[in-house]
Amino acid sequence: MESLLNEILMQCASYKQQGAVASYIPELAKADPEQFGICVVEADGTIHTAGQWQSVFTMQSIIKPVILLAALMDSGEERVRQLVGMEATGKPFDAFNYSDQALAAGHINPMINTGAIALCTLIQGATYEEKFRRLLDLTRELAGNDRLQVEESVFQSEKATGSKNRALAYLLKAYGMISDRVEDIIDCYFKACSIGANCADLARIARGLACHDHSSLQPAHARYVNATLMTCGMYDGSGEFALNVGIPAKSGVGGGIMGVVPGRMGIGVYSPALDKKGNSVAGIKAMELLSQRLNLSIF
Ligand code: GLU
Repeated sequence: MESLLNEILMQCASYKQQGAVASYIPELAKADPEQFGICVVEADGTIHTAGQWQSVFTMQSIIKPVILLAALMDSGEERVRQLVGMEATGKPFDAFNYSDQALAAGHINPMINTGAIALCTLIQGATYEEKFRRLLDLTRELAGNDRLQVEESVFQSEKATGSKNRALAYLLKAYGMISDRVEDIIDCYFKACSIGANCADLARIARGLACHDHSSLQPAHARYVNATLMTCGMYDGSGEFALNVGIPAKSGVGGGIMGVVPGRMGIGVYSPALDKKGNSVAGIKAMELLSQRLNLSIF
């Protein structure tokens, strides 16, 4: 497996030049576009790595499946379904244009910003600090890594520039979908996006979702999360990804991609140069090749 992973990184290396690191969160612009790493954790826990798999990057949207999971665990499926739907949006992750649709639960997917911001309200905790702590603890448990923490500089950078997310949260409030203080909710969301992780952390979280055997994970919740990843995990590139790779996955603008291969393995990839939709260009290529070589598509 290691030689296959090394071969894949070599074959996909040229794709790093085809993307650009995210700059709308200023701190993310400091990422080194040459970084490229991958990790596979098999069902039995065997770990395989290649490249810069130990590099730490912020999870960004890859925390969204964990937010969904926490909301399911803490508030139950019924309340989650009252707040967010399941359908693919076909829109960018921070889409603002709800003009031809009422802002209603059925039109909000938990893998785009509006849905994830709304779901922060359903995490257990008397304050948003407590809710964030609960989310961080769950992420650490799933990743099997107690050292996961917020990258403070990225958090401050997004907090200082995140007007669009703030506006999305106010939109939710205007439509009566959330009632708490927007600044508290949004701080929890920004902190969640700023949790630092490496490829092995992502692969371990994904392995739990793939195998349904993690003590903190109910199989029904894992199925819920995985199905949602399939519809919208790769933003408005999810259909293409389903065709070319064929596994539930989640990307983040930090350059990570987490792939869930049901019953078989979890995958973490990192390469920070992104395409226009916000997905890692070389990361997607690596996933495509891995899927072809190991016959991973669930279709
Ligand atoms: N923190 C980022 C934002 O909300 C996450 C976006 C992403 O990774 O897609 O803009």
